[in-house]
Amino acid sequence: PLTSNDLIEEHRICVCVRARPLNKKELTMKDLDVITIPSKDVVMVHEPKQKVDLTRYLENQTFRFDYAFDENSTNEMVYRFTAQPLVETIFERGMATCFAYGQTGSGKTHTMGGDFSGKNQDCSKGIYALSARDVFLMIKKPNYKKLDLQIFATFFEIYSGKVFDLLNNKTKLRVLEDGKQQVQVVGLQEREVKCTEDVLKLIEVGNSCRTSGQTSANAHSSRSHAVFQIILRRRGKMHGKFSLIDLAGNERGADTSSADRQTRLEGAEINKSLLALKECIRALGRNKPHTPFRASKLTQVLRDSFIGENSRTCMVGQKQSCAYIIVPPVDECTVLLINT
Ligand code: ADP
Ligand code: MG
Repeated sequence: PLTSNDLIEEHRICVCVRARPLNKKELTMKDLDVITIPSKDVVMVHEPKQKVDLTRYLENQTFRFDYAFDENSTNEMVYRFTAQPLVETIFERGMATCFAYGQTGSGKTHTMGGDFSGKNQDCSKGIYALSARDVFLMIKKPNYKKLDLQIFATFFEIYSGKVFDLLNNKTKLRVLEDGKQQVQVVGLQEREVKCTEDVLKLIEVGNSCRTSGQTSANAHSSRSHAVFQIILRRRGKMHGKFSLIDLAGNERGADTSSADRQTRLEGAEINKSLLALKECIRALGRNKPHTPFRASKLTQVLRDSFIGENSRTCMVGQKQSCAYIIVPPVDECTVLLINT
């Protein structure tokens, strides 16, 4: 069997880390970075010191990734090394998945959906939109043009183990598994898109649906997984699928010790789904015949992306680079992915 190193070589699984810049609040509080990215594939976790001696970085806790993006990296750069190589996969009849993983506030939505913190929401710079842009470029290439493919998009949210359609007023949807073990989200709106602008409109609709109508919009969206999919169809049949996922915040400790029952339950559900996701990705990495996808709604709906020869995954671990938030040794999930 292949080792995970072979798989990384083959780029079936790619694991990256991105650090965001300190924000205004962190700067005024004079927070100091506790992570440094000394080269394009190394992340170093250290004591908050005024200055880090880069020549001695091996003496600190260091982790190697496929790519490490420092706070100066742009979405376009991150995209180029993460999701962009997967666009071809779906044209070659494959299943591609790209996740942003990290605590609330670490920059997942900034990376995937585009930045929504300011007044002017701009989703054109996120990985959803950049992927769509390239899908529309790719489809014009002679090789693919002749396949006469149609492009569709879906956008849904998984909250507390339930699926809600973001393109249809958060309608609650059922997930069914048929006799052939095909998983179906019943009634999920699949909208045909003809150009990047069509996709941008859908992202906007979905995003506003995601955050509106909640007393605490951000609190809610950080407790849910958002899944944006680009689906290629040929004569109605699925040809390839790209799932781009802004995962729920993987807050540590805070949930399980919360006095609020609902918060604890949400936290438990999120932990369960992230654990299931990790297991599925590891199974994919090892070419294991059995993938424990049923362990959570998230992995269940992504089932078809975790099986099959032609599945590829990229994980972007988002890191806060400030000291007042306890930065755990770089996420065991990504480290495990690399080491197993
Ligand atoms: P999350 O979705 O993980 O909770 P957000 O994407 O909402 O985090 O980011 C939290 C805040 O940090 C937002 O105000 C966002 O604008 C800012 N931010 C995140 N990543 C970056 C970045 N790479 N460059 C500049 N600002 C960023
Ligand atoms: Mg977010």
